[in-house]
Amino acid sequence: MRETLVLNASFEPLSTVSLRRAVVLVMQEKAVVEQAHPGLRIRAAAVEVPVPLVIRLRRYVRVPFRQRASWSRRGVLVRDRHRCAYCGRRASTVDHIVPRSRGGGDTWLNTVAACAEDNGRKADRTPEQAGMRLLAQPFEPTPADTLLLALGIRDNDALPGWLALPA
Ligand SMILES: [Zn+2]
Repeated sequence: MRETLVLNASFEPLSTVSLRRAVVLVMQEKAVVEQAHPGLRIRAAAVEVPVPLVIRLRRYVRVPFRQRASWSRRGVLVRDRHRCAYCGRRASTVDHIVPRSRGGGDTWLNTVAACAEDNGRKADRTPEQAGMRLLAQPFEPTPADTLLLALGIRDNDALPGWLALPA
């Protein structure tokens, strides 16, 4: 997969992100293209975008890239793309897999996005006790995910569907 290097506004290298995410950052005017692929362009009906090899953020961001992303409810919802871990519908709450009352913590691996209905149904139980199954295992966000969180990019669907990216 093609990766784009992200520089901070100060030109300090921060992370790499997928081409798709790089284009989102440029289109949302969060970053400018510092270096583009010499031959390739992304073409669509009304827009032509250079394929970015290096982009630079317009505003300086302080992000602890080499550390682990700090846990937050919003971060869990963004990581899980606002999809309920139990039924796949839109999620607005965060569920503790092992409930806090049973010692489960506010950690990336113990929390998932959940719809209010499933969160209420599961209540103060583990998924096994509630007879509920996780559709996917929670994971710790990558440095690139952390960068997008810091920039306020909410999900991967910010690109218009008609904008076809080279593979
Ligand atoms: Zn649900």
